[in-house]
Amino acid sequence: MMSRKTRAQLSIETEPYKCPFPHCRTRKESLRALQGHWSRVGHPGIMPKIQPSARNQYVLDPDLKIEAPAPSEVAPDKKKMDPRDQRKYAASKPRHSFKNLPEGWTREKVARAYETAPLRGIPKSTWLEKWAEKYDFPLCRWKVRRWVKKCIKSDANEESDSEESSNESD
Ligand SMILES: [Zn+2]
Repeated sequence: MMSRKTRAQLSIETEPYKCPFPHCRTRKESLRALQGHWSRVGHPGIMPKIQPSARNQYVLDPDLKIEAPAPSEVAPDKKKMDPRDQRKYAASKPRHSFKNLPEGWTREKVARAYETAPLRGIPKSTWLEKWAEKYDFPLCRWKVRRWVKKCIKSDANEESDSEESSNESD
């Protein structure tokens, strides 16, 4: 006699990820494996999002962790993302690199705007607050000061933002 629990274990779906391509019956044990299948067999485009599912007479493992797709395989098309996904996508990025500064901004421009804010009657702290209201790019005075030092106060680095192949993370 099998207990209900044992029976449930026996019928746990081991390949809960079914290929979403029409008429393709491939199932995989992981989302990544399915993404591998998707590109290997040449299904066009990027694999749509899917939820794990179980075949008839199988049940989904209640402990199944829903995997996030490999970051390189999700389309980072911000226009089509809803704001919640956008935030999630932004949060999944390692750190806010200066390379991701809002359009039109470079480290040097930020540093100059910050340094010259008081001349325009804006305290530096207020300038940072305004920046935070306007842009989804965290700045703190430490970071900006580093940029001031790097981009304004050292002449060697003038206008080098675009060419620099720096490994710096911010
Ligand atoms: Zn397939």
